[in-house]
Amino acid sequence: MTGASTAARRNVPAFDVEAVRREFPILSTTAHGKKLVFLDSGASAQKSRAVIEAISSVYESRYANIHRGVYQLSQFATEAYEAARVKVQRFIGAGSPSEIVFTKGATEAINLVAATYGVKFLKAGDEIIVSALEHHANIVPWQLLRERNGIVLKVVPVDDTGAFQLDAYERLLSPRTRIVAVTQASNALGIKPPIAAVTRLAHAAGAIVLIDGAQGVVHEPVDVRAMDCDFYVFSGHKLYGPGGIGVLYGKTKLLEAMPPYQGGGDMILSVSFEATEFAPPPARFEAGTPPIADAIGLGAAIDFLNGLDRAAVLAHEEALLAHATAALSAIKGVRLYGTAPDKAAIVSFTLAGVHPHDIGTILDHEGIAVRVGHHCAQPIMDRFGIPGTVRASFGLYNTLDEVDALARGLAKVREIFG
Ligand code: PMP
Repeated sequence: MTGASTAARRNVPAFDVEAVRREFPILSTTAHGKKLVFLDSGASAQKSRAVIEAISSVYESRYANIHRGVYQLSQFATEAYEAARVKVQRFIGAGSPSEIVFTKGATEAINLVAATYGVKFLKAGDEIIVSALEHHANIVPWQLLRERNGIVLKVVPVDDTGAFQLDAYERLLSPRTRIVAVTQASNALGIKPPIAAVTRLAHAAGAIVLIDGAQGVVHEPVDVRAMDCDFYVFSGHKLYGPGGIGVLYGKTKLLEAMPPYQGGGDMILSVSFEATEFAPPPARFEAGTPPIADAIGLGAAIDFLNGLDRAAVLAHEEALLAHATAALSAIKGVRLYGTAPDKAAIVSFTLAGVHPHDIGTILDHEGIAVRVGHHCAQPIMDRFGIPGTVRASFGLYNTLDEVDALARGLAKVREIFG
């Protein structure tokens, strides 16, 4: 064990990571005959037994379509689906369950805001500000709106450490700024923009704020009312929950003012060929049969997280990040991207003379799963003049030993490539 590792181990508070790992069956599987070291939770996190069982139990004994059924099974399913909404509401500190719209994921949630709020309220020349750190999901929907409405998209730059440039942001704000859409944590670099200041300044300029919480909600407790953001989005699958389900939080007065996103069943009060009356939020934005079992599974993931000491989880992840940063920095030829201090548990790096894909392939043969490439954030790769990086993103179940395994794997890559 390295000195850095010993120090990091001492700093880990009471958090029984081995007990948590036992709740995630996939973590005891192998890859290429080696113990799986899963370091790609930022792309999609693994699922606990509680989540897997909640989903299978819906299909075994509680499944029917929701809202429309008069029979008992449909009522059970409806209650469980609506109970999941309340769990989400409490988990992120929203004021009412009707402020929680279930979507397919963070991507759909942002598209929904762009296609409804954006199309209705923004005119040619109105401005939207995003940051250079954004995932494509928080860039392309606004570009589609630009094509449709002629809005202007402005981008907050980052410095060489990846830090969000607050001064530049202040200068970009103008009386035409309508929306500021910023990530809570960059998926590509881990960097966390100063969300509180971003929101305060946006509101002072008369703009609304959308926070992309896809990488934020998974690491730290979220309180949307304390944050005072207008919209908050995230995906269930990154929060140790199922795929195909995500969340759009919106302040009531905004959701109420927004037109529907899609038309269909469940989003109406009445329909005739002459006129259709839309349901109030959240139903207005949930046309068609939703992913019922997945919403319930997301509720189970939230229950699982609530059962842990989240401050201890966060401290554990910070210890993983600190150890990984120290261990990787000690390897010759490693360059870390995103070195500013305020970060989620993600390390993004290159190794001189070795293509990220080759690194990913060699690590894979050691059982280590990392992500390589541009991480759906090409603009930030362009900012650093690189096509991509290797990214290790940590979840609550990762261990310091796994960080050591990553460092050993990289040493092997170094040996192979000289
Ligand atoms: N934003 C960020 C910061 C992300 O990391 C991701 C997923 N990588 C998304 C948005 C999109 O999430 P999804 O693909 O689950 O819709």
